[in-house]
Amino acid sequence: MKADQLLEKSKQYMWLPFTQMSDYEQDPLIIESGEGVTVTDIYGNTYLDGYSSLWLNVHGHRKKEIDEAIQNQLQLIAHSTLLGAANVPSILLAEKLVKLVPEGLTRVFYSDSGATSVEIAVKMAYQYWQNKGHHQKTKFVTLSNGYHGDTVGTMSVGSIDLYHKVYTSLLFDALVIPFPAIYRHSSGDEQVVRDESLRELRSLFEEQHEEIAGMVLEPMIQGAGGMNTMPAGYLKGVESLCREFNVMLIVDEVATGFGRTGKMFAVEHEGIQPDLMTVAKGLTGGYLPVAATLATDEIYQAFYGTYEEMKTFFHGHSYTGNQLGCAAALANLEIFENESLIQQAADKGDLLTELLQDIKQLEHVGDVRQCGLMCGIEIVKNRSTKEPFPFEERVAYQCTLKMRELGLLTRPLGDVIVFMPPLAATTEQLAEMVAILEQAIREVTE
Ligand SMILES: *Cc1c(COP(=O)(O)O)cnc(C)c1O
Repeated sequence: MKADQLLEKSKQYMWLPFTQMSDYEQDPLIIESGEGVTVTDIYGNTYLDGYSSLWLNVHGHRKKEIDEAIQNQLQLIAHSTLLGAANVPSILLAEKLVKLVPEGLTRVFYSDSGATSVEIAVKMAYQYWQNKGHHQKTKFVTLSNGYHGDTVGTMSVGSIDLYHKVYTSLLFDALVIPFPAIYRHSSGDEQVVRDESLRELRSLFEEQHEEIAGMVLEPMIQGAGGMNTMPAGYLKGVESLCREFNVMLIVDEVATGFGRTGKMFAVEHEGIQPDLMTVAKGLTGGYLPVAATLATDEIYQAFYGTYEEMKTFFHGHSYTGNQLGCAAALANLEIFENESLIQQAADKGDLLTELLQDIKQLEHVGDVRQCGLMCGIEIVKNRSTKEPFPFEERVAYQCTLKMRELGLLTRPLGDVIVFMPPLAATTEQLAEMVAILEQAIREVTE
């Protein structure tokens, strides 16, 4: 089929996620193939994948080992259900995950997207307390600007007005604690911001802990909320408050997991021990939709008993534990070992800090936030007052269109340009991508 025909059909039949379709009509993009850290469109234009195909890709596209693992699995079976039955790669992957995550997490519950993995964690935490007879512990605490997915349950524990406000009356109420964001805080001091937020959390727990089931957060850096980094010690502080007040700590590693922040999981930066942890995006190396919710033995045991005791966790999706996906995930995790990818990711994160120095100095860059290979560049109209450009000008979006012209793909979050290259990007590729970022920001904003 001719490229122009595909283009017309895409405009005629498709409705794309998180996309104003009039934008798509104006600046369409149709990817046909990928190789390494690049993707190519139907017209033969090649782009560097500066957002890892939306924060998923790890080793680049068409990674031989993962391709082969899927092909091999296809020789056996593509899918059979996990309801009441297991399958081979899902077992092996569960074992591997339990060995990788913080020690206390010993059980793996599969699903198929980041949102479902968090939805499951929220339902598990809720039912845990019900099964234990603490019927009043039903509320959830979240951080402002948190993002945990688009289902009604995960929007309820999310806190991004742009996405969630219109659904307010549909959602359950969560208790929102201000995220310890440094850039726009009057003190500009990490410790002040950290302690202020922890104080608020303490007083909330003091007042309401008997009604609080759990607290949900993204560790070290918030993704969709604008790439907001946490001050050192904050996560550890939250953990000890959760312990003190008997609140379940649910850590959403959907974006941060699998080396993205320079550690296998972001919780390792502060050595914390979640009660529930969710993983998705990088789990299959960016290949297939597999997600998992990891739980402690304490939680697992609260659901264990005879059927008549009515403690069963009644949740599951048609494609839960899909064999092709689990086989891809296994191959993905083997590459982490074989290529010492975590060390590489940490080193590349440090390199990126250096590369981003010039961008930090640009006239309309207010803040550059980074944790490993997860970065956000906040565009402002005025650096000293931190005044943003008018909403209608969509300056960050314009910057990303310019980047596309220059051969780099990414998407903005409001005024923040996201930069999240595949972990496999080489030093040279990282430098090339940052150079395009800089040129595009300059051309659009100056
Ligand atoms: C992307 C994301 C989700 C949602 O994952 P989906 O696979 O898009 O449903 C949840 N939590 C965090 C932190 C994310 O970044």
